[in-house]
Amino acid sequence: MKTPFTTKEKLEEIIGEIPTPFHLYDEKGIRENAKAVYEAFSWNKGFREYFAVKANANPFLINILKECGCGTDCSSRTELMLSNSLGFSGDEIMFSSNDTPAEEFAYANEIGAIINLDDITHIKVLEDTIGHIPSTISCRYNPGGVYEISNGIMDNPGDAKYGMTKKQLFEAYQLLRDKGAKRFGLHAFLVSNTVTNDYYPALASTLFELIVELKEETGICINFVNLSGGVGIPYTPTGTPNDIRVIGEGVRKVYEELLVPAGLGDVSIYTEMGRFMMGPYGALVTTAIREKHTYKEYIGVDACAVNLMRPAMYGAYHHITVMGKENATCDHTYDVTGSLCENNDKFAVDRKLPKIDMGDVLFIHDTGAHGFAMGYNYNGKLKSAEVLLKEDGSFELIRRAETPKDYFATFDCFDIIKDLV
Ligand SMILES: *Cc1c(COP(=O)(O)O)cnc(C)c1O
Repeated sequence: MKTPFTTKEKLEEIIGEIPTPFHLYDEKGIRENAKAVYEAFSWNKGFREYFAVKANANPFLINILKECGCGTDCSSRTELMLSNSLGFSGDEIMFSSNDTPAEEFAYANEIGAIINLDDITHIKVLEDTIGHIPSTISCRYNPGGVYEISNGIMDNPGDAKYGMTKKQLFEAYQLLRDKGAKRFGLHAFLVSNTVTNDYYPALASTLFELIVELKEETGICINFVNLSGGVGIPYTPTGTPNDIRVIGEGVRKVYEELLVPAGLGDVSIYTEMGRFMMGPYGALVTTAIREKHTYKEYIGVDACAVNLMRPAMYGAYHHITVMGKENATCDHTYDVTGSLCENNDKFAVDRKLPKIDMGDVLFIHDTGAHGFAMGYNYNGKLKSAEVLLKEDGSFELIRRAETPKDYFATFDCFDIIKDLV
């Protein structure tokens, strides 16, 4: 069962000021979840969650997480710039990039971010770019093959472009030590959107065994283990959410089994969650504006895939609540579509829903991560507004909708378009 984090009345009040479509975020939910994350890992002195900015780059939301003690995980220059201007400093910023341009290494170094190297060849690029190796440095590991968690959930790191082989990793740390590095991190991201409490403990166990071996073989002690992202959320109404407390305890258990006896009991645990921190606390609010009865039953809404790409891109399920009809029987089968000239622009296919009337407001769940952030401007469509529902029940526009002027802004070199810019 999935229920919206707000009411029909509240949405009507917001829509009175801010027209649909927009993404709405739940401040209370974001804060409670972040607090639970910190409680779950409070046994680890150096713990920090570096929120993956790519999941949602809205500075208002990132600031909320900052107040909860989080840092940021960045994958590009602009994400680094955003973190820097929000007042994150030095080791509060992780730079986990791949195929990294030299100028991004330079900027990350300039603002003192922790650089997480995706490949052994990046050591030379980094050194050539900034003239030295930073004293704190991290490396990304890829074990190859298929990575399977106990209950059959698996992914295929052997096919992934990220990270170094074990041999390269051990070589990289020694090279980095020879070049003056003093503090070392280990990072791995092996499975995406895991709806199980077993992923982090399994990954931690893999990484802890590795750092014990590294210490024995090379004498190098890892200072932090970055479990990265991958902790998932159930998008379907029948899924069971992960319990971050169980996950934190699971990691603690393997920490005490593997690291403490090896004399590595002061290793800090870092996470870089995006989806888990923000996904459930965002929704795309959209209005039904057209209906169509041809070979199928269609409901057209005023949002489209530029506002939420996951269904079009991955066939991802996003639950839909028709506001005010929460308890009505789902006796209609609809495709819920946007207006793009792409047949995959459908928020739902063959979805059982109550009868939808024109003007009904649809609450598309779990868009807080990789929702607005994946937006684009295909078909000349404009990105929507973002609205924050605050803890006290009031609301605030935290990003205005794009206007045609924004869309044409990068054509300012064309005289004929000047009037539009
Ligand atoms: C995408 C990403 C994350 C966040 O992943 P989620 O599954 O959203 O938690 C963290 N770290 C890196 C390097 C990523 O690419």
